[in-house]
Amino acid sequence: MPDSDTTICPLCQVGRRHLRLVTYSQVYNGTLVSVPNTPAWECDTCRATTIDDHAILRIEALVGQAGPPPNRHRKRPAVDTRSRTTSSRADT
Ligand SMILES: [Zn+2]
Repeated sequence: MPDSDTTICPLCQVGRRHLRLVTYSQVYNGTLVSVPNTPAWECDTCRATTIDDHAILRIEALVGQAGPPPNRHRKRPAVDTRSRTTSSRADT
């Protein structure tokens, strides 16, 4: 662990990154999942924001176990879903 809560920004190499809470939004299987109060590192110079790795792992573990929350919008029937059967799970 670093000795403080600030680190040098790897992008601009000038600013310091501070831990703050942001709203993490990501689309999982067509459903927008929004997670408030997610720890993230924000650079005070270039404003680059990086979500904390542990937070992403925790969110993805939760979404992976229970699936994304129910989508209230009905999906329109997609035309080309069968020809592109992709697996969202690349892990073993
Ligand atoms: Zn920066």
